[in-house]
Amino acid sequence: MKFLISANVPKFRSVLGNESFRVSFCQDHSGLAAQINGLDAIDIWVCEGGEVTEELLDQWLGRDQDSPKALLVSDAKQIPEVEKLLKNRVTGIHAVPKQENQSDSSWVVSTLQAGEMLYAQGWVRGALHHNENDPNADETVVLVGAGIMNLVTAEFLATRGFRVRIIDANPDPRTCKDWSHLGVTHGGFNARMFTYTEADSYNERSSSIYRHMRHVFRKTSLNGGWSLKPPSSFTAAEIAWVNSFEQTPTWLAQSMKEDIYFVNREAAKLWDEYMDRAPELFNGVSLHADILRLYAEDVALDAATEVNRGLGSLMDEISQFELVREYPGFAAAVRSKELAGALVVQGFTLGIHLFVGKLIDRIMELGGEFTWNCSVQRIRRNAAGEVTLLESQMGPLHGNHFVISTGVTRNGLLDGTASEGLVHGVLGVWLQLPNLDPMIRNSIKIHRRGSLVEDINVTVSRNAQTNEEVLLLGGGYGYVGLDHPSPETPELQALFDELERVAHTYFPAGYRVAKERGTLWPEGERKFCIRPFTCTGLGIFEDIGTAWGGHLLITGGNNTGGFAQAPAIARAVCRAIAGEHDPVHVLFNPHRSKLASPVQYSNASL
Ligand SMILES: Cc1cc2nc3c(=O)[nH]c(=O)nc-3n(C[C@H](O)[C@H](O)[C@H](O)COP(=O)(O)OP(=O)(O)OC[C@H]3O[C@@H](n4cnc5c(N)ncnc54)[C@H](O)[C@@H]3O)c2cc1C
Repeated sequence: MKFLISANVPKFRSVLGNESFRVSFCQDHSGLAAQINGLDAIDIWVCEGGEVTEELLDQWLGRDQDSPKALLVSDAKQIPEVEKLLKNRVTGIHAVPKQENQSDSSWVVSTLQAGEMLYAQGWVRGALHHNENDPNADETVVLVGAGIMNLVTAEFLATRGFRVRIIDANPDPRTCKDWSHLGVTHGGFNARMFTYTEADSYNERSSSIYRHMRHVFRKTSLNGGWSLKPPSSFTAAEIAWVNSFEQTPTWLAQSMKEDIYFVNREAAKLWDEYMDRAPELFNGVSLHADILRLYAEDVALDAATEVNRGLGSLMDEISQFELVREYPGFAAAVRSKELAGALVVQGFTLGIHLFVGKLIDRIMELGGEFTWNCSVQRIRRNAAGEVTLLESQMGPLHGNHFVISTGVTRNGLLDGTASEGLVHGVLGVWLQLPNLDPMIRNSIKIHRRGSLVEDINVTVSRNAQTNEEVLLLGGGYGYVGLDHPSPETPELQALFDELERVAHTYFPAGYRVAKERGTLWPEGERKFCIRPFTCTGLGIFEDIGTAWGGHLLITGGNNTGGFAQAPAIARAVCRAIAGEHDPVHVLFNPHRSKLASPVQYSNASL
């Protein structure tokens, strides 16, 4: 996405400074033709109005014709004149927002954000043309991938009367003994958390305390970074992904973070409705409400208090003194200055494997069918680019609609879509402790700014085999691109070591017992699993038309909050099929997460 700014140029320049990636300036309007015909096509033009001529518009709109174009006009009186010249050829034309009492910097940011949103809406408007049919409850939806994203979606669709058929490349997770074959939902431990910040943007350039994050994917875990691969071994696609993470401008990262939190908030409402609508799915799945958030430092605690208050999820602030009184086990962490204070926030945890088991049963009760061990390989299209069928190991798959949610997709299934190459893997690790007396009653999130496993979810649970009350610790970040790491690498070992250190620091008694018994990793298996991550932190939601007016939807990539956001994505799927609007269609449009072209970069630039 690229801006051309030919109005208020000095103001934009002074605010953006050296952050002008994705923005071209043109103060002298005689240079507009050169800018418009430059190397990168312009998507959004912020103009005064008077400088826009028919000839310039023809040149601008003649380039990259499949991509939507948007105009923001600073002199609103000029809009009717510009509209005449446009002849409906742009997807959006708006007046530049009024500055009113805003500072220059907040006005520039809100103008760029408004332009970017028009552009994202343009992509969705294109997709909505495919909605020619009324959805029919008898229609079949083929869902590819049986992770949490598609299972919740399938349940939403089946409840609305659609016939659902779910295909997964891997074995049935309820009976599969080898966890290393499974996707992230089934492959990790039996625990997931919902909080209002569960999915997040890790692009923190605007934050004064998280600036160190900018190059976090360029360092391996052995050097305190978030990569399991040394940058020298990155492929071109991985270089593009990491560069795109780093080059997301601050103003854009800021609005994307708000968008991610917006989807989390929508999901919170939907989880509540879900628990009311289908309480049986949430019984017997180790559901625990209200999350205790622990912070190692005051500065991070203060920042989190502000964020959670803003999101409306803050329930209580707890001092060190109150914390130790209620949970004496934390005294050692306070003494060693590893615990500054805590918050209680809205949220919940559950045993995801138990929940998934119930979801699968319920989908089958509603007439849904599952096919395991069947890899889907290709989206087949006709000459007009419309989808005709999916090719799978077991032959062609037909349906009225398709939903592909395959997590980190490694087999080229998404080739030729806007989502191709956007989702890479960022691994996390697990360990288990006994929940000793005095027992922890709330699930916990521990934040240690700058640490190798910066955020750790501690879920109160019960071990299904031993029936023992346990704490399941999951966290850590290890970028793996599209690879599957070998369990033996020192980089992966470093993540396990750090998680062990966290266990020792915050739960010393439980840690000692688990260490003595050798049960930190039940059955000796050091489990890890790989989250689907985009470089912006946004999930993806792509809508491609089928030859008969149906939809092929691609979802996923929801980073650390795939479980948390699942019902918001499920609702967006139902609405897309019904031809209705949902904010996720725009907010998670894959063009917003588009990678910088890999050809511009080489390993030498890393
Ligand atoms: C340590 C750790 C802790 C986490 N904790 C939380 C948490 O507390 N809260 C939270 O919200 N999120 C959490 N997450 C993230 C969350 O688990 C994921 O975002 C979520 O499970 C992703 O689900 P998914 O359905 O998108 O992907 P997956 O679960 O990977 O599902 C994708 C499925 O597609 C199948 N598939 C792939 N390719 C094909 C193909 N070609 N054909 C057919 N099938 C295919 C795979 O077999 C797989 O079953 C955590 C992640 C980690 C690593």
